[in-house]
Amino acid sequence: MLAFHGSCQGKSDTGLLANFIIAKALQRNIRSLAIRTFIRRDGSLWVPQYLTVIDGEICIGCGRCFKVCSREVMHLYGVDDTGEILGASDGSDDDFDGELNRMVMVVDHAGRCIGCGACGRVCPKNCQTHVAADQIAA
Ligand code: SF4
Ligand code: SF4
Repeated sequence: MLAFHGSCQGKSDTGLLANFIIAKALQRNIRSLAIRTFIRRDGSLWVPQYLTVIDGEICIGCGRCFKVCSREVMHLYGVDDTGEILGASDGSDDDFDGELNRMVMVVDHAGRCIGCGACGRVCPKNCQTHVAADQIAA
């Protein structure tokens, strides 16, 4: 049990408070690191790489990323010849009343991404941006 006497008390209290604040800050950092970093079976660390955006100028709408994603993070959208997005494709031969120029993949549910990186590995155009979990705001 700790006891404080005489003139030393103020100094010890300050030291304890400082230690407490440092310990709390470390605890917060460790907790935040633990949320964003995982441990593989072999003990190595893994940081999720979240898909944040697809460059619609480069994407060819091939659908490969959609096929490997288990989380419904992105969907195909129609684009007209001015680059205006017409809407999400419903999977049919939708030509958007004749205005369709091409299809592009759009990240429309970014919050569902688990950062597995599978979509980036199959993309033939390298038009996706992934951000490491420890570099992104929750
Ligand atoms: S990183 Fe994984 S979960 Fe996220 S969009 Fe790509 S395939 Fe889907
Ligand atoms: S794999 Fe790449 S090019 Fe193909 S739809 Fe997805 S983002 Fe576009």
